[in-house]
Amino acid sequence: MSLTDQELERYVRHIVLPQVGGVGQRRLRDASVAIIGAGGIGSAVIPALAGAGVGQITIIDDDVVDLGNLHRQPLFRERDVGYSKADLALQFVQRLNRFVKATPVQRRIDADNAQSMIEGHSLVIDGSDNFATRLAVSDACVAIGMPLLSAAAVQFQGQVALFRSKPCYRCFVGDAFDADDCDNCAELGVLGALTGTVGNFAALMAINSIVGVGEDPAGKLHVFDGEKLSWREIRIPPDRGCRACGSG
Ligand SMILES: [Zn+2]
Repeated sequence: MSLTDQELERYVRHIVLPQVGGVGQRRLRDASVAIIGAGGIGSAVIPALAGAGVGQITIIDDDVVDLGNLHRQPLFRERDVGYSKADLALQFVQRLNRFVKATPVQRRIDADNAQSMIEGHSLVIDGSDNFATRLAVSDACVAIGMPLLSAAAVQFQGQVALFRSKPCYRCFVGDAFDADDCDNCAELGVLGALTGTVGNFAALMAINSIVGVGEDPAGKLHVFDGEKLSWREIRIPPDRGCRACGSG
């Protein structure tokens, strides 16, 4: 279906880009993205995707806003403390772009429910804050052949990678982190502006991937050093013994 006059007006600065055009904008409209975590990464990813006109966004987060979130989660205000992040993120999207259908899911995603929660989307973006969730989401993505964009920020370092089944996130981190007792932002600290930088980079990668701009970045880890202010790329080798994607 072609874009309406209202859509053409709203997305005009996308559509004039030769790399996007009307075709790219329709791909964004037809896309359905599940975002795990409406925290620091989600606070950058959700507005970017909603503004870009990604047609369907599912926001999965069982948490409520805490005062200690506000330095890095600009989706929320002081008055939001104690309220559901998923519901507040939905309200944000509704105020930003009427053409986006957002669905809040106020449930914790885990190994048992991950597959059913992400099924039917075209991309998953994981901005959650612990390894157990990340591995559960990754294993589910591998099982159903769903692309997974993983983004993380801690202290002064950020990491972003797109996985298309093989290599997978488990190839990258190994099996040691399945227990839900790992380090996260609460213990290690994170610079507020870093999560926005990393989240926006992830959003750019997602939009490029949906529209079909540039080379496919799958299988490469993009690492940001917030002290040196520089990005570097590392290729992630598949782990032949990986219990999610390997043959072993
Ligand atoms: Zn793997």
